[in-house]
Amino acid sequence: MAFELTDKLVIAVASSALFDLSESDKVFREEKENAYRRYQRENENNILGKGVAFALIKRLLEINTKEKQLVEVILLSRNDPDTGLRVFKAIEFYGLTISRAIFVAGQNPFKYMEAINASLFLSGNLADVKEAIKYNFPAGYVKDTDYKDDETEKELRLAFDFDGVIVDDASETVYKKGGGLLPYQKHEREHANELMGEGPLFRFLKQISEIQKYEITKFEEDDSYKPKIRVALCTARNAPAHERVIKTLREYDIRIDEAFFLGGINKNSVLKIYKPHIFFDDQLEHIDDVAKSFPSVHIPYGVANENEKEQD
Ligand SMILES: [Mg+2]
Repeated sequence: MAFELTDKLVIAVASSALFDLSESDKVFREEKENAYRRYQRENENNILGKGVAFALIKRLLEINTKEKQLVEVILLSRNDPDTGLRVFKAIEFYGLTISRAIFVAGQNPFKYMEAINASLFLSGNLADVKEAIKYNFPAGYVKDTDYKDDETEKELRLAFDFDGVIVDDASETVYKKGGGLLPYQKHEREHANELMGEGPLFRFLKQISEIQKYEITKFEEDDSYKPKIRVALCTARNAPAHERVIKTLREYDIRIDEAFFLGGINKNSVLKIYKPHIFFDDQLEHIDDVAKSFPSVHIPYGVANENEKEQD
């Protein structure tokens, strides 16, 4: 029987997001492909350090049990299988239950996302992520971080920006192109009952929300079960633009544990208390504040990224 993906949350992860490939990348950039291949072979048994998405991926995989697999993580790599061997050794070393991989040797791997039903692709290659977003695939670029994961802690805390991440950039466009805060707030008040369209990470969050509901049902049946996932919304919106957020999430039946309607307060000021294992935002300025301290993912989507300078 074929392995079924349609009933699972599938995440496609590049080796550059899962592990620290900064040294290998340096070899690739400075000495080109042959030297890179040689370097990876010579260091095959030298275990790679953890990357930006490691804390998220490890905890998501830990939600799976023998009876029920809710999450599938697939390595989606622009390496070839030969150099990819080092990555598989690291997967085994850290005890990650990842067994499936697609290697595309120098190509952009996002085009296989549909084939594996992936609702998120995480990569340390900005050009790959931008191209994926251009073709409407949900993808995020992991930013360098000094974060050190505390693996004794089993809870998984996710934090999401709202506009341009969970929902589309329609309201953001009113803000950016419609004359600023006051016209934007008026627009949002007038459209408070109007459902917002789906953004790049809508499906991912919806699936996370379904897993949360499953965890709550399990906890109700057996109070020794500890639900692991917590979700926070962290948005620059504040009243009166909050109402549309709440009504939209309610309509889509998405549950949120914590919500920060910040209205210009620095996101890092609340996130350093919440301590996310992953934070998603479409605006670089918000990501840059947080990325050093916590694993952060830039979604280069929509009007917020129209005139963005090339990063990195
Ligand atoms: Mg946003």
